[in-house]
Amino acid sequence: MPKPATPHTAESSKPNAINLATSKLGAAPLLPADIVGSALTLRLQQYLKQQDISQIWNAYRYADEAHQGVVRKTGEPYITHPVSVACILAELHMDVPTISAALLHDVVEDTDISTLDIKEKFGQQVAELVDGVTKLDKIEFQSASVAQAENFRKMLLAMSQDVRVILVKLADRLHNMQTLEAMRPEKQKLIAKETLDIYAPIANRLGLNAIYQELEDLSFQYLHPMRYQAISNAVKAARGNRKEVVSKILESIKHQLVTMNVDAEVSGREKHLYSIYKKMTGKMTAFSQIYDIYGFRVVVKDLTSCYVALGALHTLYKPIASKFKDYIAIPKANGYQSLHTTLFGPFGTPIEVQIRSIEMHNIADAGVAAHWLYKANDAQLTALQQKTHQWLQRLLEIQSDSADSLDFLEHLKIDLFPDEVYVFTPKGKILALPKGATAVDFAYAVHSGIGNSCVAVRINQDLAPLRTELHNGDHVEIITGALAKPNPAWLNYVVTGRARAHIRQFLKSQQSTESAHLGERMLNQALRALHVEPSHITEAHWQKLVRDYGLKKKSEILTDIGLGKRQNLMVAHQLLAMTDENLAKHTKLPAKSLDTITIHGTEGMAVQFAQCCRPIPGDPILGFINKDKGLVIHTHDCPSVRKFKLDPDKWLDVEWEPESERLFKTNLNLTVANQPGMLAKIASGIADAGSNIDNVSVEEADGSAYANLYFTVQVKNRVHLADLMRGLRKIPDVVRINRAKGNVASVVKKPSL
Ligand code: MN
Repeated sequence: MPKPATPHTAESSKPNAINLATSKLGAAPLLPADIVGSALTLRLQQYLKQQDISQIWNAYRYADEAHQGVVRKTGEPYITHPVSVACILAELHMDVPTISAALLHDVVEDTDISTLDIKEKFGQQVAELVDGVTKLDKIEFQSASVAQAENFRKMLLAMSQDVRVILVKLADRLHNMQTLEAMRPEKQKLIAKETLDIYAPIANRLGLNAIYQELEDLSFQYLHPMRYQAISNAVKAARGNRKEVVSKILESIKHQLVTMNVDAEVSGREKHLYSIYKKMTGKMTAFSQIYDIYGFRVVVKDLTSCYVALGALHTLYKPIASKFKDYIAIPKANGYQSLHTTLFGPFGTPIEVQIRSIEMHNIADAGVAAHWLYKANDAQLTALQQKTHQWLQRLLEIQSDSADSLDFLEHLKIDLFPDEVYVFTPKGKILALPKGATAVDFAYAVHSGIGNSCVAVRINQDLAPLRTELHNGDHVEIITGALAKPNPAWLNYVVTGRARAHIRQFLKSQQSTESAHLGERMLNQALRALHVEPSHITEAHWQKLVRDYGLKKKSEILTDIGLGKRQNLMVAHQLLAMTDENLAKHTKLPAKSLDTITIHGTEGMAVQFAQCCRPIPGDPILGFINKDKGLVIHTHDCPSVRKFKLDPDKWLDVEWEPESERLFKTNLNLTVANQPGMLAKIASGIADAGSNIDNVSVEEADGSAYANLYFTVQVKNRVHLADLMRGLRKIPDVVRINRAKGNVASVVKKPSL
């Protein structure tokens, strides 16, 4: 394994590269902290007041104290790292909180100091920035796929919230890359790869060109030391020869444009090493064929001038037809617009030229970030997003001309992806979900089968309810059950269309089967009331009725009856009318009143037990037909049925099947002495009575001697419930116990999964 070449020095890299930390600070080993510190002061003095600088020095002393005695792999005192990171950010003229946060960025992670300590000492803003960087350090990127890298970048940005957090992180990474030599070779490659996949593209997208190029070249150097060296040498050699050629071409282009009356700014630039390497590998060419280590850029005043300039250049040098690209007519996905052409220059040198208007140029520089951050088709940016956009643009201006403008760097808290949240699957894949998405949304996003059978979720190793809202960077693992089914309550909190559609679809098909069964019973009840034996209705009668209704199947009619969309008596009359014989025989007799419908508790979703009163066998009950829910059973005395009672069309007589052994849910309300172990005693009392607990909620006032417990328990009937309550009453310290009916909000609200 060849040793990587020495890191960048000022002369080997671009003129505007931020490499001061390397060139001036990293040059000598074992640099004492005070010298690094004075390098920072020098930079701060260029744009900050003395009073701001002393504030930053407080942060420096605090960090120095905290990292005291710790030495970096490079052998330098640890404090040299945060100070170098601060230096990089001072080059960008970042504000006082950002520089302070840079100095303190490893304090929470590596020492006993907490975010709270930082807040007390340096205020909310600095604490939030440090906290943001600490959080970013904790998430790990595993998957190698390109799409996943993109999602990971978005996750990092979304977690940053404040753009300054990501800037500190990028500066941190840059300095770590600049001092990577001290690491083991395997570690070097790992970090370099991550930098290339994640951090360099972020810097690029944010328009931080100097940081971007340095990150790429440093990564390249550690990933492919030999190739890096070869290209670096070749560029150095070529630079001498080409200088003359380049300035000659530059002059010709300028002259030609003036002749053709095109007002333009023309510039030439040298490409960074990694971009040359990418070009070579992408096109499988040798370095000798990569002539365009220099690119030319022509910036004109408007769109029309772009094409005029193009024509002028094509007259000057012959274009290579296959290389021409019109990104003005067809902009790139990120909104980038330009004309790209490659010309046969003098001495057979291909010349790469980009032509664009001033407006396009601005978007290409700052707008790339803007277009990437906001969805391409979002015509209207929110005020906050516009602010980010402007802010990034200003950042670019600072980079290019070091203009002094601190005023805009105040209180920037920006949600870069206000609509999305990024989470990890157990395999380390990243899923993007809409903000507010819950574990159920996640389950359906993975696979509809997982969604349909999910029972619980583990978020960052901890069990959590399915309704839990997910946050950026969460590791989510769904627990499924073989017999589990979607719960209608999920519809109350899922936010993705996919989850909603799958749950609805499942419920609909299940409900229609169950409703058809109920509908059949209701129809038979009506037929008997008309003195017709249901078995006398033939298949032919049914076929005719189905056709008359414009439907396809008998079951559709039965489902409609079960769901309350058709009246059972009406359908019975129509069936009866099909047969003259029956009609003649039966219509003379007066109709009997309808039989009651027997409730078995096995009707599934076709019959629902109202959550307000939770009826159990033995309770006098009423059934109400609800157009969406089907038959809903309430107790006679339930307060919420009072208004329906006046409208007999809406209710059905129902009764319990006498011998049901099934368990039904009902609510209990207990007042108990507020003592440790009470809940356990009551729970075992419930179990002893052969009942199950479905749900518990506790309501205790601070300092009160008593607490209220709400249980949803499962019992067979009223007798069973009475036994249970008698048993619980015997427990000492149970003050009061009663069955809860009506609005027990705290119980009803909870999902019963
Ligand atoms: Mn660090």
